Amino acid sequence: MNLILMGLPGAGKGTQAEKIVAKYGIPHISTGDMFRAAIKNGTELGLRAKAFMDEGNLVPDEVTIGIVRERLSKDDCENGFLLDGFPRTTAQASALEDILADLGRQLDHVLYVEVPKEDLFKRLTGRWICPDCGATYHELYNPPKVAGKCDKDGSELIQREDDKPETVGKRLEVNMEQTQPLVDFYEDKGYLRSLNGNKDINEVFEDIDGILKGSNQ
Ligand code: ADP
Ligand code: ADP
Repeated sequence: MNLILMGLPGAGKGTQAEKIVAKYGIPHISTGDMFRAAIKNGTELGLRAKAFMDEGNLVPDEVTIGIVRERLSKDDCENGFLLDGFPRTTAQASALEDILADLGRQLDHVLYVEVPKEDLFKRLTGRWICPDCGATYHELYNPPKVAGKCDKDGSELIQREDDKPETVGKRLEVNMEQTQPLVDFYEDKGYLRSLNGNKDINEVFEDIDGILKGSNQ
C-alpha cells in the first residue's frame, strides 16, 4: 500500500501514522522526523535543515526531494510506505511522480486529515514527543500514563523547538498557503480521501482503517 498522509501541522499525522504502521506494517517516512534525527546526529543535512526549521520555514525542495528519493529506494519500501509531511509543495508532488515512475510504483491513497485552524494552535503548543521513539502525546488530549514519561520506553518527553507559540503561527501560515494547491493536485488525480480529523484519535483511525481495508494488498 503506497500512501501519503496530509494535513496541516497538528492535524494528527504522526499520531495516526503510529496506528497505521502498527496495523499495516509499512514503513513510516516522515521528512520532519528525518530532519530532526539529522539535527540530533549533527550531520550536514541537519545543519542545512535546522535554520529553516527553527524559523518555521520549509526546508528547500532540492534537499527534501533528495532525501525522499533515497529513502523510497530502500528495500523495506517494496511492499508499501506511508509518507508523512511530504509532499508539501507542488514541486515536491511532481518530483514524487517521477520518483514513483522510476521505481515502477503508483500511489493508492492520499489521506487528508482536516482540522479547523483554531484547534491546531492548541494541539501544537500542548504537544510532547518522545525523543527516542518519536511517540506523540498531548498534555490534555492524549496524556502519557505517567506525566512527562513515554508510555513505550519511559524516556523523558520533550517539546519541539518549533512548537513554541512564536513559531507555530508562522508554520501554520506557511503550510496553509502550500496545502490547497496540493489538495487540488491529488483531487484531480483521484487519490484524495478527505477525513474529519476533529474527532477522537481512535475515531479518526477507524475512518482511515475503513479506507485502507478496502484496498489492503
Ligand atoms: P508537523 O508534524 O508539525 O506537521 P513536521 O515534523 O512534518 O511538522 O515538519 C517540521 C519541519 O520540518 C517543517 O516546519 C519544515 O521546516 C521541515 N519539513 C518537514 N517536511 C518538509 C517538507 N516536505 N518540505 C520542506 N520542509 C519540510
Ligand atoms: P502532526 O504530525 O500532523 O503535526 P500530531 O500527530 O503530532 O500532528 O498531533 C499534534 C498534537 O495533537 C499532539 O499533541 C497529539 O497528541 C494531538 N492530537 C492528535 N490527534 C488528535 C485528536 N484527534 N484529538 C485531539 N488531539 C489530537
